[in-house]
Amino acid sequence: MKRLLGYLNPITRLGKKEYSILFPFFTTVLSAILLEMYAYFLVKDADAVGLPAIFVFIGLIIYFAFHDGIRGGFITSALTIGYYFYIIYTRHHQGEQLKGSIETTGFLAIIYFILAGVIGWLKQTIDELIVRESDERRRLQAIIQQLPVGVVITDNKGKIVMVNKRLNTMLGIKIPIGFNITKGALMDTTYKGKPAHTQNFPLVHALNTGKPLVGREFIVNRKDKKRTYIQVSASPIHNSENKIIAAASIINDITAQKEMEQRKDDFVNIASHELKTPITSMKLYVDSLISRIKTYNDERSLKTVGNIKNQIEKLQKLVNDLLDVSRLQTGKLVFTKEEFRIDTLIEEIIDVLQDSAVDKKIIFTKKLPLVVLADRFRIYQVITNLITNAIKFSNQGERIIVTLQKQDNKAVVSIQDFGIGIAKEQQKKIFERLYQVNDEKVKTFPGFGMGLYISKEIIKKNKGSIWVESDLGKGATFYFSLPIQK
Ligand code: ADP
Repeated sequence: MKRLLGYLNPITRLGKKEYSILFPFFTTVLSAILLEMYAYFLVKDADAVGLPAIFVFIGLIIYFAFHDGIRGGFITSALTIGYYFYIIYTRHHQGEQLKGSIETTGFLAIIYFILAGVIGWLKQTIDELIVRESDERRRLQAIIQQLPVGVVITDNKGKIVMVNKRLNTMLGIKIPIGFNITKGALMDTTYKGKPAHTQNFPLVHALNTGKPLVGREFIVNRKDKKRTYIQVSASPIHNSENKIIAAASIINDITAQKEMEQRKDDFVNIASHELKTPITSMKLYVDSLISRIKTYNDERSLKTVGNIKNQIEKLQKLVNDLLDVSRLQTGKLVFTKEEFRIDTLIEEIIDVLQDSAVDKKIIFTKKLPLVVLADRFRIYQVITNLITNAIKFSNQGERIIVTLQKQDNKAVVSIQDFGIGIAKEQQKKIFERLYQVNDEKVKTFPGFGMGLYISKEIIKKNKGSIWVESDLGKGATFYFSLPIQK
């Protein structure tokens, strides 16, 4: 019954391109027969069919044009006109009446065929569009299923409309279509060490703000106890009127990468711990060797051992940086707080660094007696690193200008050099772990790209901020700020 109703209802058949010939043919013929029976047997007036016939057949033409396209409409129109001629013939129209009837029928024929043509064409065009769209959808679905990353697509309210198999395998569940992602997480998900809130999901962000969000990392605790690290990006989909109609999210499994990173971090941590002790002893031995050589007055040996000491100190700095990076990664870098005069600290550092950088002039201007509350040793490390970089990346004989200013409730230290400078697009990245500018000129300077990362983390932990201003080729000015202790 339902199938029959579906077949009879032209709306449910939109997008179906099976057009029948027999159905309009027999229905029209049957209607004509019924009308004839109505006229001859029921009302017993042969001319009574005229008006009802016009309405019945217009209805049939519209219905069949919509049900079976142009063909259905034309079949019904042709049969209707044939029936009209049959009426004229059987009702014995003569003279003027015959002429009038033929003219009216011809006029109706034109109207019926135009009506059938227009409605049939509309129906066929709609079918064509629907088929094309569903083909498009099927193609899209096939592509999405084949992708090596997880994909979720939601409507503009956050209801899931499409998910690929890759995502289900990645998360170890079957994500239900129709689930609303703004209502909560489907599984135990952690974001930045805390249970993920729906607002953290890039999809929700994309729907709420209309802007894409790239590369947010989550940890998913699967039902089978497997921990999966995922990286999620999402983007809203706008229609031609710039209204959000959907959102799409791409999910990458980065577990292998994370585990690899973890192993690498563990290795660096263990290796640097193991290296620290022998290096410290080496330095002590070299120091005692230097004092002994001094008593012999042997200049050449003193110079050689002095060089060994320099190299050991470089090695020591490297190992300490490696350890710091590793501690920062694991959150094990501890900070102590004390009040100290930052201007005095800067002077102290400049004194030490100026001795080893004889070809540069480090100038400290705008000294202010400012007291900050921070980790003195770590701030010492930051300033040393920034001035050492300024020395490293500038040319012989150039000045390095250090200033200390008070801005609002902050002490702002700047270290300016007139060296190679940093291109705009690199300026954010140099504060990332192990990032070095990939330029032949810069490559000639030794380094591991850890100093600025450590400095940034130290400043952040001391409630300050760090940034750089620079023009390539003209030098760079690094700034950092710390809250002033009143
Ligand atoms: P490293 O100096 O050990 O490579 P850093 O983290 O201190 O590591 O610096 C990262 C990168 O930033 C450097 O490799 C260099 O490319 C760039 N950089 C840092 N300071 C300066 C500066 N004063 N002038 C130009 N480039 C700089």
